[in-house]
Amino acid sequence: MDKLKRFINVHVSMSNCTLRCHYCYVTLHQTFGHPIPKLEHSPEFIRQALSKERLGGCCHLNFCADGETLLLPGLVDIVEQLLLEGHYISIVSNCTLSNRIDELIALPENLRKHLFVKASYHYLELKRLGLLDSFFDQVCKLHNAGVSLVIEITPSDELIPFADEAVELCRKKMGAAPHFTVARNEHFDHLPILTSLPRDEYRRVWGKYDSVMFDYKESIFGRPIKKFCYAGEWFLCLDLLSGELSQCYGTPSFQNIYSNLEEPIHYRPIGIHCPESHCYNGHALLTQGVVPGEESPTYAATRDRTMPNGEHWLYPEIMSFLSQRLYENNPQYPWYKKFYINHKATLKPIKNRLFRLFGK
Ligand code: SF4
Repeated sequence: MDKLKRFINVHVSMSNCTLRCHYCYVTLHQTFGHPIPKLEHSPEFIRQALSKERLGGCCHLNFCADGETLLLPGLVDIVEQLLLEGHYISIVSNCTLSNRIDELIALPENLRKHLFVKASYHYLELKRLGLLDSFFDQVCKLHNAGVSLVIEITPSDELIPFADEAVELCRKKMGAAPHFTVARNEHFDHLPILTSLPRDEYRRVWGKYDSVMFDYKESIFGRPIKKFCYAGEWFLCLDLLSGELSQCYGTPSFQNIYSNLEEPIHYRPIGIHCPESHCYNGHALLTQGVVPGEESPTYAATRDRTMPNGEHWLYPEIMSFLSQRLYENNPQYPWYKKFYINHKATLKPIKNRLFRLFGK
């Protein structure tokens, strides 16, 4: 079995989309309509930059744009190269681009086994545009081609009167209820839940669909992480277009991995200094074990569903890869190294002065 070495969020800075969901971060920031960016690097170059040798093993690479990820021309070619390299790939998509879905299912079978599509089920917008049947056609195509998937709903207050019909349709088409995430309100720095409902009412409304993803994400939403976090080493954020690498969402770049492919990656774990008021993507990060000591269901358990015919949304190879924990596959630091990382701002100038005085 391949071992999960790192999780990398590959951000595609592109805010174009085929939909206009009212709760979308892009809608909130009104950044739709920018030109679709052009990739300056070939898929082969990006494969070299993210080689297993450079990263230390098989990684889970999650491709996500601000808008619709599959709109980026050439994305499937990059995905193919990274699958050939031996990585496991997830792609966040609204599944509206049937030609791109066809490109994915045309990949060789051994590569499709390591591919996972996070199908965002934007019910109200799909309904408004008459695209519900088309959405499920794409999702079924992926499933029938052996591509693992999850169907995810972003809860919103406007969806509440339609939630039961959205769930029923998913049950009818894909044999199980969708999973539910928890949306954040980016108008506020502390990123609260995007709802006007009190928390217990929110939990009651959206918690009735037996979604492990929702139950776990809601349970941690708003809770600051004080334990030692290995984001910056086991988890990384990569800007696909520029090659800039950062420790976590919203942290500055610490290295450009495209500028010199021979240069090793200089990992920098965050330690106890999580810059966020809470780990709002903990359903991806904590479930994969970025913070040892944090109890959670596995990433796979928060995505899978079993269909009435016994088939799963996650096929066996993705299931076993995404059931692993980073803290089981990577060595952890001894206490004194953690102490140094946690107090680096104070200790580094002292260390440098001592080096200058006494040499190495
Ligand atoms: S706790 Fe979560 S949000 Fe904070 S640095 Fe770690 S992974 Fe990032």
